[in-house]
Amino acid sequence: MRAADIQSELTEILVTEDQILAKLEEIAARVAEDYAGKDLLLVGVLKGAVMVMADFSRALPTSAPMDWMAVSSYGAGTKSSGVVQIRKDLDTDIHGKHVLIVEDIIDSGLTLSWLLENFELRGAESIEVFALLRKPDAAKVEVNCKYVGFDIPNEFVVGYGLDYAEKYRNLRDVAILAPHVYS
Ligand code: IMP
Ligand code: MG
Repeated sequence: MRAADIQSELTEILVTEDQILAKLEEIAARVAEDYAGKDLLLVGVLKGAVMVMADFSRALPTSAPMDWMAVSSYGAGTKSSGVVQIRKDLDTDIHGKHVLIVEDIIDSGLTLSWLLENFELRGAESIEVFALLRKPDAAKVEVNCKYVGFDIPNEFVVGYGLDYAEKYRNLRDVAILAPHVYS
């Protein structure tokens, strides 16, 4: 669906589908150059990163295997709890691999900093992060994120994989959710 289809549930479109796809091309070109000659493994964080992974991986000019992890740090609310639980682990042994974590958004940074530590313990050769969105004003911990799509204000957003209580993931754009929807 498009933002126009659910206008009353949104307050502002922050990033359009076209802007996202153009940015993914740009970042894919950088990643291809940075990882030339290296075995790259993409690791997506379910479910939010599904759309980013689908479009980003296809923008890459090389074959890159992907694996998935599901963690939860939110419950059904709109604030990070900081308590991370593995709901689905990787299928792959990442020891010695060049891992690029593909994320929808860095909010508090708690989920990613936990993941980075976890992956380091598994002996990955290198670990970098690509986050489509980042909320700089919401950071509680510093996360070293090499590739960032867009910095956005500290608002609860939905679309392009991002949900509120499992809704809105299939919205094409990224938009601020109207407060009346969750309050
Ligand atoms: P963090 O641990 O606070 O950085 O955020 C972890 C996860 O919470 C992200 O990967 C998202 O899946 C989700 N999240 C954070 N901010 C938002 C938002 O504005 N809308 C929807 N989901 C969000
Ligand atoms: Mg996520």
